[in-house]
Amino acid sequence: MVQNLKEDLLSRVWKLLINNNSRLEVSKIQELLSNPNIKNKDIEKAVQDLHNLHLIDYINENGDLKVTKKEILGEIYDKLPCLGCDHLNECRIGGERFSPENCQYLELWLHEALKKD
Ligand code: SF4
Repeated sequence: MVQNLKEDLLSRVWKLLINNNSRLEVSKIQELLSNPNIKNKDIEKAVQDLHNLHLIDYINENGDLKVTKKEILGEIYDKLPCLGCDHLNECRIGGERFSPENCQYLELWLHEALKKD
């Protein structure tokens, strides 16, 4: 259970960024994800993992360390449901509970993406 909370942190941090104009202080992320089972170092690791994936940048604004979502993927990819999905770590091809081939969110996203081409 605690392991799932840690694994889901990356998608939860990503979702927070999407829902907060793509820019948040690290301290605000820690505050919003505050949970007795989640340590600040785990949140910092999730933020660092997003940075290692080249999905975010760090900026220093008047002494506040902020993270910003990079705009490298384009609008349609910002809406890819998997990036903020609570079930990302449980989802796999052929999965019994969660799988891309049976996901209504992914299907809707694909229809939208194909309309834009
Ligand atoms: S395919 Fe659906 S269930 Fe699986 S990670 Fe993406 S949004 Fe989540």
